[in-house]
Amino acid sequence: MAYKRGGFLSEKGNGDAMAYEVLARKWRPQKFDDVVGQDHVVQTLKNAIESKRLAHAYLFVGSRGIGKTSIARIFARALNCKKGPTATPCGTCDSCIEIAKGTNLDVLEIDGASNNGVDQVRDLRETVRYAPTHGPFKITIIDEVHMLSTAAFNALLKTLEEPPAHAKFFFATTEPQKIPATVLSRCQRFDLRRIPTPQIVERLRLMGKAEKVSIDEDALLAIARGAEGGLRDAQSALDQLISFRGNAITEADVLSVFGLVARASLEALADAVLGGDIPGLIRLIGELDDSGKDLQRLVVELMEHFRNLLVVLNVDTPALHGDLTDAQLEVLRRQAGRSDTSRALRIVGVLTEAEDRMKFALSRRTLLETALIRCARAATVVSLEEILIQIQALRAGLGNAPAGVAVAAGIPAGTAGSSGPTLATLRPVVRESAPAALVAGAAPAATQEAYAEELRDLMREWKALKEKVAKQAVQAKAILADARPVAVDAGRVVLAFDAEFPQEMKRFETGRDRLALEYALGAFLKRKVKVDFVLVARDPLAEAAASAPEAAKAAAAPSAGGSGAAGRKGKSPQEWAKDPAVNKALEMFNGTILDVRE
Ligand SMILES: [Zn+2]
Repeated sequence: MAYKRGGFLSEKGNGDAMAYEVLARKWRPQKFDDVVGQDHVVQTLKNAIESKRLAHAYLFVGSRGIGKTSIARIFARALNCKKGPTATPCGTCDSCIEIAKGTNLDVLEIDGASNNGVDQVRDLRETVRYAPTHGPFKITIIDEVHMLSTAAFNALLKTLEEPPAHAKFFFATTEPQKIPATVLSRCQRFDLRRIPTPQIVERLRLMGKAEKVSIDEDALLAIARGAEGGLRDAQSALDQLISFRGNAITEADVLSVFGLVARASLEALADAVLGGDIPGLIRLIGELDDSGKDLQRLVVELMEHFRNLLVVLNVDTPALHGDLTDAQLEVLRRQAGRSDTSRALRIVGVLTEAEDRMKFALSRRTLLETALIRCARAATVVSLEEILIQIQALRAGLGNAPAGVAVAAGIPAGTAGSSGPTLATLRPVVRESAPAALVAGAAPAATQEAYAEELRDLMREWKALKEKVAKQAVQAKAILADARPVAVDAGRVVLAFDAEFPQEMKRFETGRDRLALEYALGAFLKRKVKVDFVLVARDPLAEAAASAPEAAKAAAAPSAGGSGAAGRKGKSPQEWAKDPAVNKALEMFNGTILDVRE
């Protein structure tokens, strides 16, 4: 990227630029290729120029400071450059230099906010009628065009309906809905995007380097966050910080100037919410409030954080994580392991409501505390649907989960390493000793042989079953491509994932995809089943699949002695608590054992 550094008049050429606009002006893009984050607009304009398919009027739409007037000016240069019309204006001819200075007679720049009357537009119509003095086109740039009065729009419309061949209009607006449809329909419209945070960070880093200012990475991110996708705001902020702090800027400086909360504090708050750590929440909010942070802003930033968490939970394509830096992604991925979509959605719901009420709240701190406690509960509360499924699974699984079994609901991340369970750890799952009556709808005569038979059927029909699941949960198909059934018993089906895909398994542990799979398996086996996942190394996987029926037989032997219902009799609550399945339930519902009923 190359930037021409030099003095230019401020926007609209009114000469009252404030001091802090210095950097933004110095770094104003001079060529289409210099424009940050608007590739879709720039490419279309370049193509139009090169193929000589130019409209009479263009409308650039987008929030403030993201490059609307910059693009309009570059476009004007491109059309009137001595070497043009060209997609790459030279920047050195009289036209190019004058347009940049705002002194070119063929390019008129008007601020719609202060020249919004019908008289001004009539004058403009007169001016436009005359042929250009130097270049091929007479170009009118109207910024904030939505500010024109109705009469002014009507006057403008007359020109737009029958424009002289040499006339071009470039309009910029933040509020396109205020422009009459009759005008809109005569413009080629371009919607500019908020500039992604990483691109703003990158630009600020370049500027810092050129200005010989050292800025740490979190400080850059904080500036970009504060600018909310507006490059000009980010540049102005950097200017302000340089005059405030000199040539070494830290995150703390940025935060104190803008009342923002440190990324680490935001993430700590999110951690406390996800972990249900209410004392932690109260302490963190207290610290932030005491240090004068903008709590309203904090809620918005927390919403963004959980929105990002939702993206990470649901979108695999890194390209769609666009707005997130690597450091943010790392934290979000970690937090995604502790959450799921429905919980994150509940949290966003609570925060949205809180943000609404905050504007009118007498004590923002109290409101924030209450809201985050509700979030923490939303994060840890289990939905009724989940409870039903889990209870079902537990009922089926109580008798067959001897200590040391690696296969249990939601394998802890720590065990999901490359070493994965081997055939030996898979075996106990195949052993079914729960009384059949415990399992809803299970055939009383179900035997190990029957399960083995079912597993063979399942493996045979696996492909069709995956298709069925994909109809209800589209994403599930891709994830299941690397999974296969390895064991069946009264209440569950165990699927093995290749050890190389631990993240795939993780994604399946909760949510809609899993439910869809459980329904499909339940329909296939004609009884309600839960799905458990194991990671296995490639070779044992094949081995396990091939020998599962034998494994079932072999495993059936030790349980023949009747370790099932009989074995459970007389266990104390303490002993029960050590049982993995029970332990899981206690953990799930955050409970303790009060009584054991046989
Ligand atoms: Zn030129």
